[in-house]
Amino acid sequence: MDIQDRILKLRKLIELNSYKYYVEDNPELEDWEYDKLFRELKDLEDKNPSLITPDSPTQRVGGISEKFEQVPHKIRLYSLDNSNNYDELKQWYQRVLKDVGEYNGTQLSLLGNSFDDIELVSELKIDGLAISLIYENGIFKRGLTRGDGIVGEDITNNLKTIKAIPLKLFQNIDIEVRGEIYMPITSFEKLNEIQIKNNQKTFANPRNAAAGSIRQLDPKITAQRDLSIFVYAAIIDKKYNILSHSDAMDFCKKLGFKVNNYRKCKNIDEAIKFCSDMEEYRKTLNYATDGVVIKVNSFAKQNELGFTARAPKWATAFKFPPEEVWSVLNSVEFSVGRTGIITPVANITPVNLSGSVVSRASMYNFDEIRRLNIYLNDEVLIKKAAEIIPKVVKSRKTSKSIPIELPTNCPCCNTKLVEVENEVGIYCPNKESCKAQIKGRLEYFVSKQAMDIDGFGESIIEQLVDKRYVIKPSDLYKLTLEQLLTLDLIKDKSANNLLNAIEQSKDCILSKFINALGIRFVGKESSDILAQHFNDIDALKEASYDELSSIEGIGVKMAQSIVQYFSDENNIDMIDEMIKLGLNIKNKYNGVQDLRLKGKSFVITGTLDSMSREEAQAKLKELGAKTPNSVSKNTTYVVVGANPGSKALKAQDLNIKILNENELINILKGEYDE
Ligand code: NAD
Repeated sequence: MDIQDRILKLRKLIELNSYKYYVEDNPELEDWEYDKLFRELKDLEDKNPSLITPDSPTQRVGGISEKFEQVPHKIRLYSLDNSNNYDELKQWYQRVLKDVGEYNGTQLSLLGNSFDDIELVSELKIDGLAISLIYENGIFKRGLTRGDGIVGEDITNNLKTIKAIPLKLFQNIDIEVRGEIYMPITSFEKLNEIQIKNNQKTFANPRNAAAGSIRQLDPKITAQRDLSIFVYAAIIDKKYNILSHSDAMDFCKKLGFKVNNYRKCKNIDEAIKFCSDMEEYRKTLNYATDGVVIKVNSFAKQNELGFTARAPKWATAFKFPPEEVWSVLNSVEFSVGRTGIITPVANITPVNLSGSVVSRASMYNFDEIRRLNIYLNDEVLIKKAAEIIPKVVKSRKTSKSIPIELPTNCPCCNTKLVEVENEVGIYCPNKESCKAQIKGRLEYFVSKQAMDIDGFGESIIEQLVDKRYVIKPSDLYKLTLEQLLTLDLIKDKSANNLLNAIEQSKDCILSKFINALGIRFVGKESSDILAQHFNDIDALKEASYDELSSIEGIGVKMAQSIVQYFSDENNIDMIDEMIKLGLNIKNKYNGVQDLRLKGKSFVITGTLDSMSREEAQAKLKELGAKTPNSVSKNTTYVVVGANPGSKALKAQDLNIKILNENELINILKGEYDE
C-alpha cells in the first residue's frame, strides 16, 4: 500500500472511531489502540506535509452531535498533543525553550545556546469530558461541550444538576472557565450494576458514563447520575492582573470552583518526576485519569508560543502507558512455593504492557482459574499488578479453547495435593522432602530482608540441594570449602566469599531472624512487631496463642501459625543447632525503654538532608513507631523532604499532619510539642 492510501485508510478508521467515541459515547477501540492509529497518521503527515488536508483528524478537535443546540465558543477550545514517553516530553520542553527561552550566556558547542529554565505546572489529566462554563456577574449562564472546539453543544440545564458546579460565584465577576466533567469510579460501577439490572447497556468506562450522562436530552436523568468537575483553565479579565496559570487556578478556587492539586515544576525534569509519582498515586483515586498535563505557567509565554491547528504549543500531555492488554494463553505452569502452595502461572504470547514485554502472568490459584473460567488457548486480558508479575483478569473463548487440566499431585515431588480448610489454594503437604519447597525456604532464608547472605543465587542453591549438602537453613552453617568447590562455576575466591558471607550473617538481629524462619503469614513487618514484643527467640518459642493474638498487628491466623511452627520439634532442633553453630541473635529493641512513639505511624517522602530515609525509619521504629510505605487514613504524620513524591499530595488530601525534617529531628530528640 502506498503512503497516500495508508493515510486515507487511517483517516477513515480514525473518523469512524471518533464518531463512536465523541458522538455515540460508545467506543469500540481501547484508547491506546486509537492513539496508535492517530500517531501513525501524524508521523506519515509530518514526513509528507504536502499530503496534509484541512479535514484530516490531525487538524481538528473532537466531534459534535446534533442532539443539542449548537453554540459557537467565544474563544476556541483545543485538544492537547501527547506523548507516551519521557524523551518526547524533553523534546517538547526543548522546543519551548528554543521558542521563548532566555539565553543564559552558555554556548553548548553542538547543541546551540543554553537557556534559563521555564517554569511549568503539572496536573493530573482527568479522563472525562471537556466543557466550558460561562458566568456573568457571578451567575452561571451557559455551559457548552467542547464539541469540535469552534462550536459546542448547549448542555446548560444538565450542567446545572451537578452540585460541584457553582450556580453563583463568591465574586460578581464575568468569567469563562473550562474543566472536565467526570464520574467517580465507584459511582460508575454502581451505575453499571443498575444498567445490568434494568437490562440496559453498560458503559465501557467512567469517561463514557460521564459523557453519556451529561449529554442526556432529559436533565432529570443527568440529575440521577453522580457527576463532578475539575476546573483546569480560565479566561479572566486583564483587570484582575492574573499573570500565570497557577494564579488563575488559585483565583478559581477562591471563586468557589473545584480545582485539583497542581505542582509547580522548575523544569521538565521536575515535571517528569510528577508524572512518575502519579503513575502509582492515581490508582488510589476515585476518578479516572489518563495522564498528566504539563503547561508553561506564565501567560505571557503561553501567548508567545501560541497554538497549532489542534493544540496549544505551551502544553502537552503525558499519557500513562496502558495497564491492560489482550494476549493468548499458550500453556500453564504450576509452581510450588516455599510453603507448598501451588501457583498457576500463565505462559502467554509476548505482549507489550506498560512499556515492557510480558510473557508470563499470574493466575493466583485454582479457584481463580475456575472463577474466571479460563481455558487453554483463550484470549486473556493481562493487567499490570502491584507485584512484579502481571495477572490475568479476564478471558474470552476462541475456537481452540480447551479446559485446563488442574494437577492433583505435586508437579515437583508427585505427592497428592491437599486443600486447607478456610484457605484458598492447594498445597503440597510434603514439607520435608519436596525439593521445590526446600529450595524456596533456602532462597527466602538468605534473602536481603532475612539473613542477607550475599552470593547465594538460584543456581547455587539448586546445586547445594541437589547434592544434598543443604536441606534446611541450619545446614548452611555447616558448609565446607571442599563442598563449595564441587559446585559448577565456583572457584576458590567465590567459595571463600560465600563462607565469609555465611560467617558474617551469624551476627544477626532478632527481627530478621524471625523473618528468615519463613513461618507462614509472618513477613517483615510482623517480624519487627514480634521482636519489639519479645526479648529473645526463647520467649517467642514459649509464647501462647493468647499472648500472641493480643499483640497489636498480630492477627489470629498469624498467632496460630506461630504456635504451630514452634510446636514442631524439627523447627526447635534446627534453631538450637544454628545457635550451637555460632548464631548470635541480638535484639535491637532490648533495653530500649523509650517506646514513646508506639501507636504512631510515620510515612517519609522525598530526600532528607541529615539522614537517609532508611536511617530515619530505623530510628522511628526503635522508638516504637510504625513506618509504612504508603499514606492511609491511619497515618499520623507524613515527613516531607526535598523533591517529595505523591505521598505529600495524598497527605494533604487526607488532612494528615505534614512535618519537615527539623520537626522530625525534634520528635526523635523528644523535643516536639504536638
Ligand atoms: P485528549 O483527551 O488527549 O486531551 C485533551 C483533553 O484533555 C482536553 O480537551 C481536556 O478535556 C482534557 N483534560 C483533562 N485534564 C486536563 C487538564 N488538567 N488540563 C487540560 N486539559 C485537561 O484529547 P481529546 O481530543 O479530548 O481526545 C483524544 C483522545 O480521546 C485520544 O487520545 C484517545 O485516547 C481518545 N479517543 C479514543 C477513541 C476510541 O475509539 N477509543 C476515539 C477517539 C478519541
